[in-house]
Amino acid sequence: MGIQHFYRDTWAEINLDNIYYNVESLKNILPENVALFAVVKANAYGHGDIQVARTAVRAGASYIAVALMDEAVALRQKGLQEPVLVLGASRPEDVSLAAEYDITLTVFQKEWIVKAKEYLNDSKPVKLHIKVDSGMGRIGVKTKQELREVEEAIRENACFYLEGVFTHFATADQVDRTYYKKQLALFKELVDSFEERPELVHSSNSAASLRYPESYFNGARLGISMYGLSPSKEIEVELPYPLKEAFSLRTKLVHVKEVEPGDKVGYGATYEAKAKEWIGTLPIGYADGWIRKLSGQEVLVDGKRVPIAGRICMDQTMIKLPYQLPLGTEVTLIGNQGDEFISVNEIAETLETINYEIVCMMSNRVPRVFIQDDKIVEVVNGLF
Ligand SMILES: *Cc1c(COP(=O)(O)O)cnc(C)c1O
Repeated sequence: MGIQHFYRDTWAEINLDNIYYNVESLKNILPENVALFAVVKANAYGHGDIQVARTAVRAGASYIAVALMDEAVALRQKGLQEPVLVLGASRPEDVSLAAEYDITLTVFQKEWIVKAKEYLNDSKPVKLHIKVDSGMGRIGVKTKQELREVEEAIRENACFYLEGVFTHFATADQVDRTYYKKQLALFKELVDSFEERPELVHSSNSAASLRYPESYFNGARLGISMYGLSPSKEIEVELPYPLKEAFSLRTKLVHVKEVEPGDKVGYGATYEAKAKEWIGTLPIGYADGWIRKLSGQEVLVDGKRVPIAGRICMDQTMIKLPYQLPLGTEVTLIGNQGDEFISVNEIAETLETINYEIVCMMSNRVPRVFIQDDKIVEVVNGLF
């Protein structure tokens, strides 16, 4: 690790102090017996998996959660020591990897247990959490009968240890609580049907963690709000503490020119200068996750909002400058500049999607620069 290099004028700034604050703030409202799971799947929603995991642990998280076995292995290879749970389905034939790396897996089929035990010898037992489908309709056991079958299959085999049970809410980020309540009640019913209740029972995502203390049991899984983003717009007013966004996207002017009235800019020659104008070129494009649908979006330069000019290219984007500006002038696409701010939510609105998707879609071609105590503490170039 240490400082890596990158050779382009585009980077994402990850504010680890804000991530620390967001985690600590939830930790402060959780009862002492509730374990905080930091969800760092998809490279920590684009923020950097190991850096976010380490920051979350410093701030009080005791379990790390990812979606895939590969993500869990990557964290172990980067030196993570804390317990790691794979939230999604794993293949039974990969179970020995979980034993080797001490990775906790999610199970929800008796057949999986039967198959997986063929791939284990007398290693340390693999820790398992049973997933209950209480209404998300994705993965999980749906009935007490299925739950008991999986429980029994696990307990019959010394190569497995049943450590936890969990479910996932489909509507915890909506004002209307009806469906959430239905899911919670069904989950409680299934948890009560265990012969022996596992030590970790968890159900809440960010939205439920921030709104519904009765959903804690003894674990809370924090994803989107660890990154300072509200799970939805409609619950923003209910948040128990202000969230601090951790992701900024910045670039610099690599070319500046004055164009004449009638001059065109970009593919399709769709932008036409109305008068003498200053046009700037940015070294970022759709291959970085700055996708073509963002053509109507504004960016910040010299503390002012300016429009994108013409179509976004694969590697470059042109903007209309307010006046001549020097080469190397910083341009903010997401984040603060002067008194202006472009939030992840603003980009999500432009693209008619959710904030989750915006941070996840920034590609590994964009280097991540990690800020802690107002200093750069690490740089990761995803290409090397
Ligand atoms: C992604 C995920 C989470 C985190 O959800 P947020 O809304 O980002 O807090 C929690 N649990 C499961 C099962 C998930 O897949």
